[in-house]
Amino acid sequence: MIEIAHVSKSYGATRVLDDVSLSLPAGGLTAVIGPNGAGKSTLLSIVARLLAPDRGSVHVDGLDVFATPGAVLARRMAILRQANQITPRLTVGELVAFGRFPYSHGRLTREDGEKIAEAIAYVDLAGLADRLLDELSGGQRQRAFIAMVLAQDPACLLLDEPLNNLDMKHAAATMRLLRRAADELGKTVVVVIHDINFASCHADRIVAMKDGRLLFSGGPDEVMREDVLRAIYDMEVAVHEVNGARLGAYYR
Ligand code: ADP
Repeated sequence: MIEIAHVSKSYGATRVLDDVSLSLPAGGLTAVIGPNGAGKSTLLSIVARLLAPDRGSVHVDGLDVFATPGAVLARRMAILRQANQITPRLTVGELVAFGRFPYSHGRLTREDGEKIAEAIAYVDLAGLADRLLDELSGGQRQRAFIAMVLAQDPACLLLDEPLNNLDMKHAAATMRLLRRAADELGKTVVVVIHDINFASCHADRIVAMKDGRLLFSGGPDEVMREDVLRAIYDMEVAVHEVNGARLGAYYR
């Protein structure tokens, strides 16, 4: 469970998070949506302790993230940020092994090896463990990074725009993979995402941010409404029911 209480953050005179409070139950998939600059990445970075808030607190499974040793926290929570375009000369196996660092501190045990192989197989990259990251397609590389955080085996997975640069097929596969991590592995998955339709189809709850504030939080059926989407994005989005899902059309 993630408890965000009264978090504020400013850069100079610009307040980018303004008294954000949010409580996410354990398990399930939460999509964080909202316009560019709304503060989504900043909030995720604060939850993952990569950035300190000016005010407020964050607890993950009851642990104060700013008062808990990194190694303890790393077993509870992992974050995948957007910087994956840079691909060092690492193999898939070497990358995924980084996920075991909180356990192995660099000396991999047999159990670490098993967890690494399991994570690689889970994202459907078995057979590519020795392949260099820059010899993979964008979709395969994204799955390798997801395998790294799965190998870390935290209760909470935070992902900042994991669908960036992925084509439709790979974006859909990535969302299905994150959904499985929630359903089969019991992870609490939080995804910052721009495609409201992926959010609608895969999320249990959608959190909308705007201008550094939490604007709305609810199930896909509550958020995927023309009045709510207009308030979030300042544009008209026609919502249609397609195969049981509410989808927004906003291309013209
Ligand atoms: P989002 O993820 O919703 O697009 P961000 O959290 O990335 O929003 O950014 C929120 C605001 O904070 C933006 O206006 C952005 O320009 C600003 N911002 C983010 N990081 C910094 C920084 N390191 N220094 C100054 N301003 C920043």
